[in-house]
Amino acid sequence: MAVSIIEAFERLDHRISSLSAEIVPIEESLGRTVASDYTALFDLPRFDNSAMDGYAVKCNDQGDCVSSSTVIYAGDKAHHTLQKGEAIRIMTGAPVPKGCEAIVPIEEVEIDGTQIKLPRTVRPLAHIRHAGEDLKQGKTYLRNGETVTAYTLALLASQGVTHIAVIRKVRVAVFGTGDELRPHFERIESHQLYNSNAPMFLARAKELGCDVHYIGGSGDTIDSLKSCIREALDADLIITSGGVSVGDKDFTKEAFAQLDMETFFSGIAIKPGKPTTIGAVGKTVIVNLPGNPLAAMVNYELFVKFIIRKLAGSSAPYHGFVETRIQASHTIRPGRFTTLLGSYNGSGFLPLAQQSPGMVSPLPQADGLIITMPEVSLLQEGTIVKMLPIKWGVFSCEKKDIFTAPS
Ligand code: AMP
Ligand code: MG
Repeated sequence: MAVSIIEAFERLDHRISSLSAEIVPIEESLGRTVASDYTALFDLPRFDNSAMDGYAVKCNDQGDCVSSSTVIYAGDKAHHTLQKGEAIRIMTGAPVPKGCEAIVPIEEVEIDGTQIKLPRTVRPLAHIRHAGEDLKQGKTYLRNGETVTAYTLALLASQGVTHIAVIRKVRVAVFGTGDELRPHFERIESHQLYNSNAPMFLARAKELGCDVHYIGGSGDTIDSLKSCIREALDADLIITSGGVSVGDKDFTKEAFAQLDMETFFSGIAIKPGKPTTIGAVGKTVIVNLPGNPLAAMVNYELFVKFIIRKLAGSSAPYHGFVETRIQASHTIRPGRFTTLLGSYNGSGFLPLAQQSPGMVSPLPQADGLIITMPEVSLLQEGTIVKMLPIKWGVFSCEKKDIFTAPS
């Protein structure tokens, strides 16, 4: 019995948990999920320092001429004390001297030998960066379940962290099923077909941060399927496509059943992708996607992406969406939850003109997808839709005005 989309996610959420953790150098942690909380060991910045190249001054000296004979550079140890009637020349990042009440930028003073004329007003604390204003000692700056980005690395490095605990990479194994399929690097006969799903699955898993392994192609026999499955079973996740529907040679489910697959569900009430079957053999999660490339891709984006994020220990595994407007009216056969692929230009969602389940050519154009409820038969141009991004990053072929105007 097919389950609803909501029920499918419920079951996956319940059954799939995070893999184990390992310690890696921070340089190798990019894209991984953090497996511990990280707390600041010291203030950032560590000491009060100058935000400008300028002069450390007393506020009461504003408008006066003061003498200056000392310079403090970034990297110098703080041992100076500022006296009234004095300005100490100071560079960005250098520790502010004791007694300093403000920094006046170089551009705002007049220099005459060792005499410095200060501006008429000097605001207390101007251009001083205070110890801990960026990050306070003891504050948690990185949490279990967050994904490491280049910017996380900046923060870790600023705390002198060399190694962190992350969830190990998800190992994904892929094989295609079908007597008609051949790999893309072989010559084929006119009645045969290149396996386009396997390279897509492998590449997408890589993009999602997994280690991938291509098992090969299985013929449409139980023995051939079982030998592929056995070869793949040391993976955390096996993704197959094809042979999962009601055709005479659709043996995928039978082969997995013979190897004791526990089925979480067999079939989802979604169009396209109804045959999608998910379960586990031991600790290995099994996803049997339909053979039709577009149907496989849509179900991959919805369910496999979720599974990978769960296995990877992400604290944010659930789909989010962008609310946008549909840019052309679109009719839909009602009665089922239906997915629509579309392009997104930053201001609206345009359903792809052609998107049948068996197609390959629409796939690269899809920036996101929407899922319409069974009651929907028409989406009028301008209707607000919830788009689940596939590619993220909004770029344009034309140079655009990228500036925000005053309101
Ligand atoms: P099946 O689910 O096995 O009945 O396959 C449905 C359709 O998808 C058939 O037209 C298959 O030839 C095609 N198909 C199955 N697997 C793949 C694959 N790996 N790459 C491209 N097309 C496939
Ligand atoms: Mg087949």
